[in-house]
Amino acid sequence: MTKIIKDLKKEDYVKIGDAIQKGELVIFPTETVYGIGADATNEKAVDSIFLAKGRANDNPLIVHISNFDMMKDLTEKPNKMEQLLIDAFMPGPFTLILKKKKKIPDNVSAGLDTVGIRMPDNEIARNIIEYAKTPIAAPSANLSSRPSGTKIEDIKEEFDGKVSYIVDGGETKIGIESTVCKVIDGIPTILRPGKITPEDIKEVVGIVKLDEHIYKKADGKVESPGMKYKHYAPSCDTIMIYSENDTVFLEEMKKHLKEHTVIIGSKEHESYFPNNTYLSYGSKNHFDEISHNIFTLLRKADGLKPDLILIEGVKKEGLGIAIMNRLIRSCSYHYIEK
Ligand code: AMP
Ligand code: MG
Repeated sequence: MTKIIKDLKKEDYVKIGDAIQKGELVIFPTETVYGIGADATNEKAVDSIFLAKGRANDNPLIVHISNFDMMKDLTEKPNKMEQLLIDAFMPGPFTLILKKKKKIPDNVSAGLDTVGIRMPDNEIARNIIEYAKTPIAAPSANLSSRPSGTKIEDIKEEFDGKVSYIVDGGETKIGIESTVCKVIDGIPTILRPGKITPEDIKEVVGIVKLDEHIYKKADGKVESPGMKYKHYAPSCDTIMIYSENDTVFLEEMKKHLKEHTVIIGSKEHESYFPNNTYLSYGSKNHFDEISHNIFTLLRKADGLKPDLILIEGVKKEGLGIAIMNRLIRSCSYHYIEK
């Protein structure tokens, strides 16, 4: 039986900590998206995460910690650049890939010799890890390939009966998953863009690179196995369109419009589509607002069962890089940029 709880008191944290200790699954909020977590040192418990999500077992999980002491048992000592990144971005929406120690079972890292470490900047998440007295492996709380969960109303049915607790912490602040970064040959390389932008990283260590698969379909061997899989995708045809030029953008949208098309786009363009269901993600230059809203709108659009979903893209800069990475994948690389 799954219990949904909110406004957690000490006794609730104790119960949740015990559940994690016993190898059970718990869904909890972080500042990015909801996670489905288990004891990262318990191989069997970790297996049940893969099972609950239907996740491919070559797609590694991120390990969440609540204090830096926890890291010592899990990874080799970070080098100088890695330490600078840790000091700058943890706690926060930032995952660093480090050489792993044996304490991390192979299924967490999908057989790689590295592991992603993150310290969430969310009190509920950190308390749960503290009370569990163990690092928690937690991918995003969504069935594999679906948009990540940013509020429990979106995900409770997907996981009812599969987890012991769902902790309701309201809508997650950021709305898209952490920036995943790995220092490769002395260069911090972004494997998955997020709220911590290339500029943020460059400011700290003077250098940064974006992995070549941020906007491109990945086949074969990739640095981050998650890049290979279908993700964030509604079940109907979905196309993303972007142009800096409003006239070009509107023309292209009208070209694709069908009768039962749902549009996800900026509030500035809403009035151009009076005959369609229009889900506004907010103002077109407010990337924080867009990232906060985007996954729940993708789910909402899907739920309306249209023939087609058209999505307005954003400029690929700052947090817009992460938003476009998710949108490009949600339309399975079917996008038009002019
Ligand atoms: P999720 O758990 O759904 O937030 O996805 C985690 C992402 O981090 C996936 O894209 C993984 O491929 C990536 N990831 C996790 N661990 C590693 C690792 N050791 N090396 C490279 N990428 C990783
Ligand atoms: Mg995910």
